[in-house]
Amino acid sequence: MSYKASDKIQDLQYFGEFGGVNPSISDSSTYTFLSAKTMFDTFEGNTEGCYLYSRHSSPSNLYLGEAMAQLEGTESANVYASGMGAISAVILQLCNAGDHIVCSRTIYGGTYALLKNFLKKFNITTSFVDITKLDSVEAAITPKTKMIYCEAVSNPLLEVADLPSLSVLTKKHGMPLVVDNTFSPLSISAAKLGADIVVHSLTKFINGSSDCVAGAVCASKDFCLSLKDVNDGAGMLLGSTMDSLRAASVLKNMRTLHIRIKKHSQNALYLAQQFEKDGLTVVYPGLKSHSGHETMTSQFNPEFGYGGLLTLDVGSLDMANALMELMQREKLGYLAVSLGFYKTLFSAPGTSTSSEIPLQEQEALGLSQGLIRFSIGLDNDIHKTYLTMRACMERLGVLQTGKVLV
Ligand code: PLP
Repeated sequence: MSYKASDKIQDLQYFGEFGGVNPSISDSSTYTFLSAKTMFDTFEGNTEGCYLYSRHSSPSNLYLGEAMAQLEGTESANVYASGMGAISAVILQLCNAGDHIVCSRTIYGGTYALLKNFLKKFNITTSFVDITKLDSVEAAITPKTKMIYCEAVSNPLLEVADLPSLSVLTKKHGMPLVVDNTFSPLSISAAKLGADIVVHSLTKFINGSSDCVAGAVCASKDFCLSLKDVNDGAGMLLGSTMDSLRAASVLKNMRTLHIRIKKHSQNALYLAQQFEKDGLTVVYPGLKSHSGHETMTSQFNPEFGYGGLLTLDVGSLDMANALMELMQREKLGYLAVSLGFYKTLFSAPGTSTSSEIPLQEQEALGLSQGLIRFSIGLDNDIHKTYLTMRACMERLGVLQTGKVLV
């Protein structure tokens, strides 16, 4: 039976200081103690419910953390100033100098750059593998490997990771499975499928307003506490904690996540099916033609659909750029990176969000220069959107009466 994350989030109930229907915002960087002893105990990590300093924790961050823990069904969750703040904290908490990571070869460009370039400083190395080939994943594990890292649905190629099988593998080798579930909140309950640590960029669907960057780590109580440890917690010491005002604002937006995800998924499925009928090179996990369709179908929560992301390959970067500019002029959405906004967002990952990946590697992955990634919006009349998109493609010669010309 699927995990009813949306119900759990809806069941959370807080009262503001004066009985408000929203919890009061903790607008303080520091907190008073009535006794010096309690302050000491709190620094030692022994006083539950006491706050010491907002880089460590704050009531507003705990409320959002609780909602994130409900989303994934984990014991606990911490919230961070960005998705990268969450990801880097997890990796640096788990790895020491000289350690090794096995990671999917298709992941967000910033995560790729962190693993491939930045972590060189600490002699932490990463083997990038095809996450859908369990044999290759296992073969890459060495005695120094500290985790398997992947995205549940990958950015930008929308590869689907078989989380239960990966979890069997990580358990066998005694290491955590770390999953970035940014592309598929509610649709995939990553922790319920075997992930030990789930990271999110809340910047995307969860906040849904494209008005901030934010992140979260959902995991066991012990791991979340370790990230906040005043002596050696990567979250606490590297300082990527979320601001309280922002936590309050993300929490309010999160309450409509279940409605938004359903609509994003419905709209994306509709467009993907139409584009496929038109003969376009469309990739969407909800299409039977998608290589990860069966895996996704076996592990998703059907009421939330296959997600709001799809890709179209229009043959060349010039064509992709021309089409995106035209679609923006036609008010179909924005030529912008990111995802999860109410308007459709489109970008060519090869020259934007995946530009950190060298061209040769992009080609080896199947990330072509003509690929456009769409985060489909909440359009009320998606058929009208389809007709306008189709007209744009016809105008540029990408499509002619159902025949692809590129
Ligand atoms: N994970 C994925 C899958 C992403 O797409 C992104 C950003 O695009 C991130 C993590 C990083 O998140 P943030 O931009 O909030 O730091």
